[in-house]
Amino acid sequence: MSDSDGAAIGVIGGSGFYSLLDGITEVAVDTPYGAPSDKLLIGELAGRRVAFLPRHGRSHSLPPHRINYRANLWALRAVGVRQVVAPCATGGLRPEFGPGTLVVPDQLVDRTYGREQTFYDGEPRADGLRPNVVHIPLADPYCPAGRQQAVAVARRAGWEPQDGGTLVVIQGPRFSTRAESRWHAAQGWSVVGMTGYPEATLARELGLCYTSIAMVTDLDAGVEVGEGVTHEEVLKVFSENIERLRTVILDLVTELPAERNCLCSKALDGVDTGLLLP
Ligand SMILES: [Zn+2]
Repeated sequence: MSDSDGAAIGVIGGSGFYSLLDGITEVAVDTPYGAPSDKLLIGELAGRRVAFLPRHGRSHSLPPHRINYRANLWALRAVGVRQVVAPCATGGLRPEFGPGTLVVPDQLVDRTYGREQTFYDGEPRADGLRPNVVHIPLADPYCPAGRQQAVAVARRAGWEPQDGGTLVVIQGPRFSTRAESRWHAAQGWSVVGMTGYPEATLARELGLCYTSIAMVTDLDAGVEVGEGVTHEEVLKVFSENIERLRTVILDLVTELPAERNCLCSKALDGVDTGLLLP
């Protein structure tokens, strides 16, 4: 791969953002874990090389539990990405976190199951490499530098974000029951989504920065008064806010620090992974 095909920054999700890139190319990446959700769309934005990856595929055909998260993160790293920005749609777990609220979470709770969530599973890969047992720290799952910049960019756009909060990731594809939702809220968690895990931990396992930007599309079932969230409501709020979300994501992409000095960049220092990371 030549330099002109690569990118330093990756955005997972954000369909419809590609038209703003210059000199866009589609790059198919194969990985030791299979194919990512789709081809990467790589181009230039204000002098920064950016790769977009539609999380659910361009035809939105992959439900959250069927996404090949390992292939997605590996493919991004393979084209040179070291910083990942990950917008996602979420349900609000507090009455004040209504539709249109922007949350830049600083904590994560995993309530998924059965997903491939590590590169270091001790299993030999098809290429003969066998990963070592690696225990990656995830006390602070998000890049502190990316978070700080995301908050600043949203604020400047006049979209006062929640600076911090806990994203609980459920298996889906169904939404929560009221009892589950009330339980999540009672823990003090902020928003609920379906894709933030294992994305965050896989990014850390590859030494990538990962910044989550959670947009609230609905009040979750235990918080709202009514029939419960529907997919139509989610799509409606998403389309109403897509323009300003686009502005925030694109500003963030162009303003991420060029030099990394965060804990994510040092996650693999002194670690023998047994793998050859691209
Ligand atoms: Zn970082």
